[in-house]
Amino acid sequence: MTEATSHSFKAEVSQVLHLVVNSLYSHKEVFLRELISNASDALDKRRFEALTDPKLSESGELKIRILADEKAKTLTISDNGIGMTAAEMEQNLGTIARSGTREFLSKLQKAKEASEQGLQLIGQFGVGFYSAYLVAERVDVVSRHAGHEEAQRWSSDAQESFTIAEAVRPEAGTDVVLYLKEDQAEFLKAQRLRDLVRRYSDYIGHPIELAVAGESAEAPKFERINQASALWQRSPSDVTEEQYSEFYKHLVHDFEPPLAHRHFKVEGTQLFAGLLFLPRRPPFDLYDPNAKHGVRLHVRRVFVMDDAEELLPKFLRFVRGVIDSEDLPLNVSRELLQDSKLVRVIKKQVVNHSLSMIESLAADKPDDFLKFWGDFGAVLKEGIHFELEHRERIAKLLRYESSTQSGLTTLGDYVSRMKEGQSAIYYATGTSRSLLESSPHLEALKKRGYEVLFMTDGIDPFAVSSLGTFADKPLVSAMDEKLELGNETLSDDERKADEELKKNAEPLIQRFSAVLKDKIKEVRLSSRLTDSPLCLVVPEGGLAPHIERLMMARQMGVVPQKRILELNPAHPLIVGLERKDQEDPASVAQWIELLYDQALIAEGSPVDDPAAFAQRLTRLLTQNAQA
Ligand code: ADP
Ligand code: MG
Repeated sequence: MTEATSHSFKAEVSQVLHLVVNSLYSHKEVFLRELISNASDALDKRRFEALTDPKLSESGELKIRILADEKAKTLTISDNGIGMTAAEMEQNLGTIARSGTREFLSKLQKAKEASEQGLQLIGQFGVGFYSAYLVAERVDVVSRHAGHEEAQRWSSDAQESFTIAEAVRPEAGTDVVLYLKEDQAEFLKAQRLRDLVRRYSDYIGHPIELAVAGESAEAPKFERINQASALWQRSPSDVTEEQYSEFYKHLVHDFEPPLAHRHFKVEGTQLFAGLLFLPRRPPFDLYDPNAKHGVRLHVRRVFVMDDAEELLPKFLRFVRGVIDSEDLPLNVSRELLQDSKLVRVIKKQVVNHSLSMIESLAADKPDDFLKFWGDFGAVLKEGIHFELEHRERIAKLLRYESSTQSGLTTLGDYVSRMKEGQSAIYYATGTSRSLLESSPHLEALKKRGYEVLFMTDGIDPFAVSSLGTFADKPLVSAMDEKLELGNETLSDDERKADEELKKNAEPLIQRFSAVLKDKIKEVRLSSRLTDSPLCLVVPEGGLAPHIERLMMARQMGVVPQKRILELNPAHPLIVGLERKDQEDPASVAQWIELLYDQALIAEGSPVDDPAAFAQRLTRLLTQNAQA
């Protein structure tokens, strides 16, 4: 046999090992669930690989065995799963490649600094394989990859390095041998181990067997200590919250429990069971178009694939879970999934149950729902834009800030607050609430006492125009060219004065059009302004200016669009300009340029030529100062 080769841990590993051992001292028992979870993953992988490569199938039953050896003071967790090659051992047990672990590290650090309470939370975290060092001073991993003849022993005392040497294992699989620390003998006791498996690992669908080797030379006798039935196949009334939570952590490799779950069975043309979850936190790649999403697919209990995105539309990409079909073929491929009627039927139900899960959260746990909404609301809104079928259901879940409410409001609540004579749901889109709150476009709406919803997500303008109406009320943008606020509330005299104002403004409108003809599509009078002299509005079908800028910055082939300039004929500045236009037409052009830039600034858009803007402003202020 050749010499063992020695390798050093990658930098982060030592850091994690250190943190694990120092932070989790009061939750040492988590090591067992981590090692069983890994063994279960390895069994799933083997069963799956054997579908296409019969050489890899196991003659005996796939299972996990725990052997406590009181004499040697070792605890061994074995599985006859996929196993690891030497290279895989080096890679998987010697580095922290996963972003999840990195994130965990920083959280752990923070929680540790935060408080004693933080320390309590740490117990819920999963730290994977390294948690073995909570109870062991040395760990050996003997593994043989399915389909390979040779086996290796990885060994480390968790200091700086590990060794890998040739070893013997009669069949494929992995033994994780823990050389327990002096004071950890409790983990050799059958009752303690049985309790831990029941508490943390009961969701595991593979058999888990336990044996204690004593003084005698007899071969240890294993007894089955779990139900070994897939959690999602059990009746919901037989599953505890804690079991759902442990299963979720195992499935998603999350260290926090889920925000909500939904467990269901579908009977009818398609027979399948499902268990869906809403995570408590968004993944770092939620908006990465190449990120994987989807549920885990099993066929008649057999794990088939992770991230089956064919079963879950993109707007639900934050939903995690498992679907177990009775009808799909075991050798189902990605291609087949994409083009299968069975799959479409399943997907429909998965969407239905996902939305139900979110609806229940909104109804039963409003605070949790708001947390969900803050993290995933913008993604859910994509469904309004892209999936006609689910529009109405999603619309009921929408939450927006509003000009009259503190906190978020629903469209339904908005409608119930609508004023007499108000015919539409009004909203404003932009980059921030504060910018929208002082937008000139809202003046007449506010004066009438109409509530305005503030929409600040990039997807909002698209979602809201796809939605069109809610409860038969049209959704109308305060910035939209179509906004028509009648003057029906005016008296006869007022109406006359109004007509007069409009007539007088005609020549000035012509002047504005001439000066701004390269920048503006049209100049007209406004019914939406009260305190501001003018504003810019988007022609029908056009993009909101902040969206246009965003899309241009991303080079999405958008050409800037000319907009409509609206004047407030009652504003003293406009009335004054009408007079000036008769007396000193040349100077009026300067005023008009300045007012146009001012309208851009008021809506949060940049001016085309800031230097020219500053010069004009200075000139006019100087004249005024000298006058
Ligand atoms: P995670 O399970 O989140 O991937 P772990 O630290 O628990 O992280 O395990 C690291 C990796 O080591 C696993 O992803 C797997 O590739 C490998 N591994 C651990 N235990 C086993 C095992 N019993 N059989 C096969 N591979 C294993
Ligand atoms: Mg693991």
